[in-house]
Amino acid sequence: MNVFPMEDRLPHGVGRAAYLEITAYPVEQLPCDVDVSDNANLFGAPPAAMRELRALDDGMVARYPGAGSRALRETLAAYAAVPGECIIAGCGSDDLLDAALRAFADPGEAVAFTEPVFGMVPRLASANSLLPVGVPRGADGDIDVPALLATNARIVYICAPDNPTGAPVSMRSLAAILESARGLVVIDEAYIEFCGETNVCEVVRHERALVVRTLSKAWGMAGLRLGYAIGTPAVIHEVGKASRPFTVNALVERAAIATLSEDSDWMRECVRDTVMLRERLALALRDLGCEPLPSATNFLCVPLPQAVTVARRMHELGVRVRAFPWLAGIGPALRVGIGPWPLMQRVLAAFAEARQCV
Ligand SMILES: *Cc1c(COP(=O)(O)O)cnc(C)c1O
Repeated sequence: MNVFPMEDRLPHGVGRAAYLEITAYPVEQLPCDVDVSDNANLFGAPPAAMRELRALDDGMVARYPGAGSRALRETLAAYAAVPGECIIAGCGSDDLLDAALRAFADPGEAVAFTEPVFGMVPRLASANSLLPVGVPRGADGDIDVPALLATNARIVYICAPDNPTGAPVSMRSLAAILESARGLVVIDEAYIEFCGETNVCEVVRHERALVVRTLSKAWGMAGLRLGYAIGTPAVIHEVGKASRPFTVNALVERAAIATLSEDSDWMRECVRDTVMLRERLALALRDLGCEPLPSATNFLCVPLPQAVTVARRMHELGVRVRAFPWLAGIGPALRVGIGPWPLMQRVLAAFAEARQCV
């Protein structure tokens, strides 16, 4: 009988020492009644995308994608109000962050960011043989521009507004980084639709900016995986070289073109409701004695000494939130995605019950 070798260690000589230290990004698979852990759109999927997905034709499956890629780029460009040459699409914005890190820093060079940081960034940096360098937030809660610049990093990553804290980033700080950075400045605008403003035009005028965005959050398409990046044609060209062809599949192309063209009102309504419900949830959490951090996104970051235990207990009660054992400058915290109020009531009930047990 053949026995497959269920070895959980690599053989000698196989594997990279620095790479082995990277932990895998946590992707929870167990089903859960109420899942508010990942900041996706809890109001559902955009209607035009769903219509297009139901109207698949044979050619979209049997052949390589790309027939719609110019149209997708032009549609994204119209939405972002930039020329088509200034846009590249990818398989989620993670894909484009990965490509940008590879394209703009040599192995061993530093990628600087404010801590706490979106967990993918240090992982992608290490996987690309770069050195992740975290810098604490400034005393005023904004990013610490002099400290970020002092790292002399080849790439500075800024999340605006920020995940996991929800904090906005001031335009003044962004401009100061762009003015004096040594290399590329990546500005991750995954939550831009929720903060009521966008600085793309101002920011992209700086030739060293790469703005990275996604259709996974406000646009409700996390399952389809579509991100895009905005920069000068020269910057976009380099990102394209570091990416792979056909990362955006034909179904996504077609669904995204329809959604961006037809579902703006739907998206804006989701955003409006989210912002209103976010403040309502913040109030309710304050009534329970918590101090959620101010948020410009579709989630609340709630500092809580027993975050991990409370999250585990909430999961037993059918509600999944994201627990952070320790966030720099904050301590342990929960992150709660915002959705329709009945969902938020389930979250609040589970939270109240879970907290009684710790
Ligand atoms: C969710 C998120 C993304 C990734 O989005 P995808 O496009 O789904 O890969 C990128 N950056 C931040 C800060 C996020 O929170």
